[in-house]
Amino acid sequence: MKILVINCGSSSLKYQVLDMTDESLLCKGLVERIGMEGSVINHTKTGEDKIVKEVPMKDHKDAIAQVLAAIQDPEHGVVKDMSEIGAVGHRVVHGGENYADSVLIDDDVIKVMEQCVELAPLHNPPNLLGIAACRELMPTTPMVAVFDTAFHQTMPPEAYLYAIPYEYYEKYRVRRYGFHGTSHKYVSERAAAMLGKDLSEIKIITCHLGNGASIAAVKNGKVIDTSMGFTPLEGLVMGTRSGDIDPAIVTYMREKDNLSLGRANEILNKKSGVLGVSGISSDFRDLEAAYKEGNQRAELALKMFAHKVRFYIGAYFAELNGADAIVFTAGVGENDAFMRNLICADLDNLGIKIDPVKNDVRGKEAVISADDSAVKLLLIPTNEELMIARDTFRLAK
Ligand code: ADP
Repeated sequence: MKILVINCGSSSLKYQVLDMTDESLLCKGLVERIGMEGSVINHTKTGEDKIVKEVPMKDHKDAIAQVLAAIQDPEHGVVKDMSEIGAVGHRVVHGGENYADSVLIDDDVIKVMEQCVELAPLHNPPNLLGIAACRELMPTTPMVAVFDTAFHQTMPPEAYLYAIPYEYYEKYRVRRYGFHGTSHKYVSERAAAMLGKDLSEIKIITCHLGNGASIAAVKNGKVIDTSMGFTPLEGLVMGTRSGDIDPAIVTYMREKDNLSLGRANEILNKKSGVLGVSGISSDFRDLEAAYKEGNQRAELALKMFAHKVRFYIGAYFAELNGADAIVFTAGVGENDAFMRNLICADLDNLGIKIDPVKNDVRGKEAVISADDSAVKLLLIPTNEELMIARDTFRLAK
């Protein structure tokens, strides 16, 4: 079966077609500037050069129509017609407490997803637009929703509740949800395969360190805690997000600078993190270059990032009562040997020892711990699209 994977944002859309007989990638693409001047589709058939085409796309339906045209293109397409696509898998950011797994989409599922819009007002609406456009253009093709929150639904209440009056949970569903679940699930499964063990018998700490960053404690295949919370703002220091802060700071900042709610939100989401601390960039490559030139704020930002990851590794090590492996994934986790060294330094009393030579690697699966490290350190490139395709295949076949 061939599966189309769609990840729909407010003005952009990523897609892939995979052949599930061998999980090979047939093509991938990116649509940008949907509903704006200069909308464009980038399409790459595996083994060929990227094709860039500017086409007016006034909405998500136009964008999906262009994707369908690209994948059926006689020259650069990968299917003769749409009947070859067995199912479509959609990334959906928030499934609330309703979904602990991916789900076949029907009208009832759409209704529940609409109820989750208030929990993810920026992300769920474009996800829903993509689904609606696909259902209209492919009315007989099964559609599956794969939620960023689903993998984390196994957390116990002591981990997912906040110590605020219980009514806020009952009335407004204020709780920890966690995000990046599809990535944490994918690397957990790969970690088990790399260790030659069953996922149901191991304890792993998965570190998804990208522009957005989160960490999860996975016990016997089930998440027992994760660092992102009610929104993706909580937890680690990120590219532009603050991560954990004393909530009283928000009130204080607002009073001092007479900030509106919107502006305070913007500061914490877009102007904080390593960008806010360094004043230079949210990109770790820029920060490391600046640090090497002696920039002290860049050094501070990098150290703060590493400090917080170590803080959570320690916490999850305790919650799990030890771990078989710690996994590094996403942009920073996969590519940044310097940061991995900084995070893993001086943890030998916990049985965690990085091998600096093995750690000198990028973007491919590798064991980067020393031979005598009790805890295996693993580098695993994430593949959320493949995970979405697998779930879609499982539910649609
Ligand atoms: P997201 O999906 O959250 O946007 P990614 O997982 O793609 O983020 O990670 C992007 C980040 O990864 C970049 O902002 C950059 O900081 C970091 N990154 C990418 N390549 C490298 C590299 N070679 N060295 C250090 N950091 C890198």
